[in-house]
Amino acid sequence: MSAGVSRPGRWHGHPAGASARPIAGEAAAQLFHVSKSYLAGTYALRDVTLEFARGELVFLTGPSGAGKTSLLRLLFAAERPSEGQIVVLGRNVSRLSPRSVPYLRRRIGVVFQDFKLLARRTVEENVALALDVVGTPRRAARARVFAMLKQVGLQHRRYQSPLSLSGGEQQRVAIARALINEPEILLADEPTGNLDPDLTLEIMDLIAETATRGTTVVVATHDQSILRRFRKRAVRLEGGRIAEDRPAPGAGV
Ligand code: ADP
Repeated sequence: MSAGVSRPGRWHGHPAGASARPIAGEAAAQLFHVSKSYLAGTYALRDVTLEFARGELVFLTGPSGAGKTSLLRLLFAAERPSEGQIVVLGRNVSRLSPRSVPYLRRRIGVVFQDFKLLARRTVEENVALALDVVGTPRRAARARVFAMLKQVGLQHRRYQSPLSLSGGEQQRVAIARALINEPEILLADEPTGNLDPDLTLEIMDLIAETATRGTTVVVATHDQSILRRFRKRAVRLEGGRIAEDRPAPGAGV
């Protein structure tokens, strides 16, 4: 099979160069009776059946150890399920060949609690390194990085080291890096866990805005103030099981 080359039936017929967005209605990711066990006899996730719609913003909540990170790692194909099936952007993660994993990952952006920026590189380089530059002229690539940094309000910091930035600014760089390839899914694992309340809102606004542009956004957080403010679908995990799947208030059932 030619991985990641032809994706029949999943794209609008946009003219070349226009940003192709998937057909609305198709799920971005589906989990069917998924269990994940790292150690024999213990489960990080247990019998999880869940669907994330295209362009949806969903919160994953639950106490530490509930399985939030494990679920995100499965969606990113960083782990395979022990049982059950996961389909992400039309690809069955359990059956994905190692060669196909990078193709899938290019379509997914990830943001972590601890930013994971390269300290010895500039802000611009951190974002540029993530850019899938195949076939993109150098100048166009730089312009794209500049535009992305502008979008997160950090174009003036582009030649600085991430270490000279505040925590909120570092997370904005990490968001720019995650979004530079226009991912169809954005995964954020406790993205505001290291930030104070003001910056938490600023960063969450930026992440939530991504969903309004058609990207599916899944945010793991145990911060109740975020859940109260954003009032979106919230899936609560407890002991690896879905304890509650609460739709966004006002959303039709
Ligand atoms: P959360 O993100 O909600 O804190 P995790 O997915 O990190 O939950 O963890 C769920 C459970 O899986 C915990 O009991 C944790 O100790 C265990 N776990 C997570 N990753 C590993 C691993 N790589 N090896 C062994 N156990 C793990």
